[in-house]
Amino acid sequence: MVLSSLHSVDLDTTMAQQQFSSLQQHVAYLQTASPYYRDLFQQIGFDAKELKSWTDFANLPLTGKAELTHNNADFLAVPAEQVVDVCQTSGITGTPVTIWQTESDLQRLTTNEQRAFVAAGIVASDRVLIGAALDRVFMAGLAYFLGLRQIGATAIRAGSGQPALVAELICRQQPNVLVGVPSILQLVAQQLRQRQKDPAQLGIDKVICIGEPIRSDDLSLSPLGESLRATWGAEIFGTYASTEMATAFADCSYGCGGHLLPELIVVEIVDDAGQPVAVGTAGEVVVTPLGIEGTPLLRYRTGDISRLHTETCGCGSQAPRLGPIIGRRAQMLKCRGTTLFPAAISSVLQELDGVQGHYLEVYSEYDLSDRVRVFVGGTDPNLSSTTVAQAIAAKTRVKPEVVLVRPEQITAKTIIPELRKPVTFFDYRNSGKEQG
Ligand SMILES: [Zn+2]
Repeated sequence: MVLSSLHSVDLDTTMAQQQFSSLQQHVAYLQTASPYYRDLFQQIGFDAKELKSWTDFANLPLTGKAELTHNNADFLAVPAEQVVDVCQTSGITGTPVTIWQTESDLQRLTTNEQRAFVAAGIVASDRVLIGAALDRVFMAGLAYFLGLRQIGATAIRAGSGQPALVAELICRQQPNVLVGVPSILQLVAQQLRQRQKDPAQLGIDKVICIGEPIRSDDLSLSPLGESLRATWGAEIFGTYASTEMATAFADCSYGCGGHLLPELIVVEIVDDAGQPVAVGTAGEVVVTPLGIEGTPLLRYRTGDISRLHTETCGCGSQAPRLGPIIGRRAQMLKCRGTTLFPAAISSVLQELDGVQGHYLEVYSEYDLSDRVRVFVGGTDPNLSSTTVAQAIAAKTRVKPEVVLVRPEQITAKTIIPELRKPVTFFDYRNSGKEQG
């Protein structure tokens, strides 16, 4: 069986050897510099010098969000005076975690983001609106700014919190590239239409999407991706990144998944037991970012489900690519024998006329089944909860309870200013909360 790790798929041998040698250095660094991993290696009787093969590597323990949260300070691997920037994860799924960065980490972040922008064809003459926060100890906006600066493109630091402000900046500063969260960019488009501006006529050539997948599992644009393309009249690029991995996987213009950067990160796809799955099989994305000084990690479980694509990309690259995120492991729904991710329901709703936003609530019904309630925004008189529920059932085999509400109610519930993207999934399965 070919395992779904970058190292064992059909990779250029030199690249695989270089990556393994960087990995050995990384693991040696963890042992000397990271209090958390020094203790962990001692407990399991492992010495970094014993790492001789990818099989040795696959036998090392995984690190999860819980370990990182509960022992956060032990992950800091440099003296405090070497830290030049602190980031926090957004805390959508729990307590925020601190990630400390050194000067070298910021340079690595710059290189990573520069490569993501280059993959999308961004050049010095581009004017790029950054629709992600540079403040509030977020990493993403900072990374985009650093990458654009390296390319020499013009950055327009709009942030993500206020669609009206972003719309205003688009009119005044005339970017030709947008970087942002798809569902928030759709709100910006609404603001523009309210000002009698057609978003497709504003000269936007490219939209680089962050935080939400815009492709389906087969790599075609999802309904959300198609809608963005039509709205802005632009080429759409998907990216996947997280604060913990401090690395981004970006589409090239062939849109065949996010190109992996073997010099910067080792990617594995694993099953529930943490074992590598066959190439092309969906599983949890596990990452080991290389060359990190401040907060280095080993085999970190992202909680995101995806699969690797290994056919040669249209751009000629033979390195594997990471497909869109199909869902979060913790958000998998079990409904009377069927399992699905909330994204499958979102995808149906994005295709329905008259739907303006949605969110899901999930409750425990009985041991092996969840009760799903879908709140759908809409003012179209042709929209009824029955037709929406039927449309969902036709595509997913799960018929949830549907509640129609005004679009403003959806926005009020899902747009949380402190968070970087809308929250559309509310999980009450283990909270003891009764369905209201
Ligand atoms: Zn490519």
